[in-house]
Amino acid sequence: MSLIVQKFGGTSVADIERIEQVADKVARFRDDGDSVVVVVSAMSGETNRLIELAHDVQERPTPREMDVLLSTGEQVTTALLSMALNKRGVKAKSYNGGQVRILTDDSHTKARIREIDDSRLHAELEAGYVIVVAGFQGVDEHGNITTLGRGGSDTTAVALAAALKADECQIYTDVDGVYTTDPRVVDGARRLNQVTFEEMLEMASMGSRVLQIRAVEFAGKYNVPLRVLHSFQEGPGTLITLEDQTKMETPTIAGIAFNRDEAKLTILGVPDMPGVAHHILGPIGEANIEVDVIVQNVADDKTTDFTFTVGRGDLDRAEEVLNKVAGEINATEVRSDNKIAKVSVVGVGMRSHAGVASQMFAALAEVGINIQMITTSEIKISVIIEEKFLELAVRALHSSFGLEKEPENESAA
Ligand code: ASP
Ligand code: MG
Repeated sequence: MSLIVQKFGGTSVADIERIEQVADKVARFRDDGDSVVVVVSAMSGETNRLIELAHDVQERPTPREMDVLLSTGEQVTTALLSMALNKRGVKAKSYNGGQVRILTDDSHTKARIREIDDSRLHAELEAGYVIVVAGFQGVDEHGNITTLGRGGSDTTAVALAAALKADECQIYTDVDGVYTTDPRVVDGARRLNQVTFEEMLEMASMGSRVLQIRAVEFAGKYNVPLRVLHSFQEGPGTLITLEDQTKMETPTIAGIAFNRDEAKLTILGVPDMPGVAHHILGPIGEANIEVDVIVQNVADDKTTDFTFTVGRGDLDRAEEVLNKVAGEINATEVRSDNKIAKVSVVGVGMRSHAGVASQMFAALAEVGINIQMITTSEIKISVIIEEKFLELAVRALHSSFGLEKEPENESAA
């Protein structure tokens, strides 16, 4: 008997037929004696539909009214799923965020959860109810409805699992787990049985969009075991957990992540003196532009070059800021390039294995790919390359690190 939080995304509750299938699944867990809290998204496409409706009325509606509107999508699916469960003889009740009392701050459309009152939920669970909670929404201290940002139902599920000290938080979606890389790029991409929170964060922030990043952060912080599963196919999915709780010896590399949303700016002939890096990046930060990779070379005599990457959507603004800075610090030139991409090898195992970087660079050299920038962290090595070589790079790395093969020690997991 365990307490499980199960989250079903928009495609899993897209229509009545699927809601009935979800009800069958939840009922099976109930039959096995588990206590179940279900978190649902709105039917797929519904949140977008509501956003369009809003914009048909007003160009820039207040965030407060947007939240009142957007939170309705999830309320529909909670009620329908509860009905489908009741029809099966499974006692179920729907709850919206405010009824549970998922207390958030007041930043409408991107609110953060502050506190969850679990007393009502515990009482309902003890009385044998399945509780179906609306994802993505909460309430601020004045009773205003808030929402948590797109994809926020994942965060609702993890937060509830943490508050209730659930045994597992299961995220049901339209893929059967987390893969070594994007299967659309590499045929041999393989489902991982287990991955650590840290690895998942690196993979999620770089394009493997299975889970909302905030949800993974939350799960890691509160040590909530997370499992990604296919809604309508049987299978173990991927368990995301702490490193010391993974059951096998950790493979060196878990996966290859990549991101096309990168653009590069270089400021040439920068005087080599204290305060210059701050002078360059300070105004970029003030303009609310997020900087990713930063490289500054050793000065040859009195000047150096400074290169960094930003999201492509920010390139024009960043360039404007930088041109101004260049004048102020007497740099010689600003160059920009938006045809770049970032590829990373990710794995907690690289902490104890030397030579991952050289293997990565060798694999790229073998297929003739030039590396423009390199950055490393404890569990990740990233390179910036020309965008047109991205898929080639991902395939070369996937094969070089042997990721298509199931590690021997993992097959029993
Ligand atoms: N319905 C919301 C969205 O589409 C929340 C979610 O699905 O997680 O972003
Ligand atoms: Mg969704």
